[in-house]
Amino acid sequence: MSGKCNVFCYLSKKHFMRRISNRRYSPITCSNPACGIEFVPHDRRQIYCEQQCRINFNNDKRHEENNSRFSDEKQSRLNRKILAAAWEKLINQKEKLVARINLEWDKFNFQTQASIKKNLKTGRNILWYHDYGLELIDPAGNLFEIHKKP
Ligand SMILES: [Zn+2]
Repeated sequence: MSGKCNVFCYLSKKHFMRRISNRRYSPITCSNPACGIEFVPHDRRQIYCEQQCRINFNNDKRHEENNSRFSDEKQSRLNRKILAAAWEKLINQKEKLVARINLEWDKFNFQTQASIKKNLKTGRNILWYHDYGLELIDPAGNLFEIHKKP
């Protein structure tokens, strides 16, 4: 940006040229779609009306990138629903065992993020999807026990 002008500067050719150059750019529309105001850039590379607008836009972009995480959250809720249904089916069983293949058949997604907590009784990890959890009982048979938070 242009520096401060003193009285000598005001009278100089340089000052005059600078004023011209300041006015050289024609108005453009701010690149933040949420803003869209028309402004006169003071630099050829300026595409946002002001710095805050650029920051807002980049924040929005990051928010959009987080959407993949939101869809992960959606799948996590679906996983929970599948476990809840399986739990209901096994309600009278002492051990609520379910095979991986059955869960996958119901569109359970094991790639979805879960909170992992160790079962202190068995020493095995439980993958929690909200209030339902899966504990891998038999890795060879891909057998899980379903847990429910009290
Ligand atoms: Zn703007």
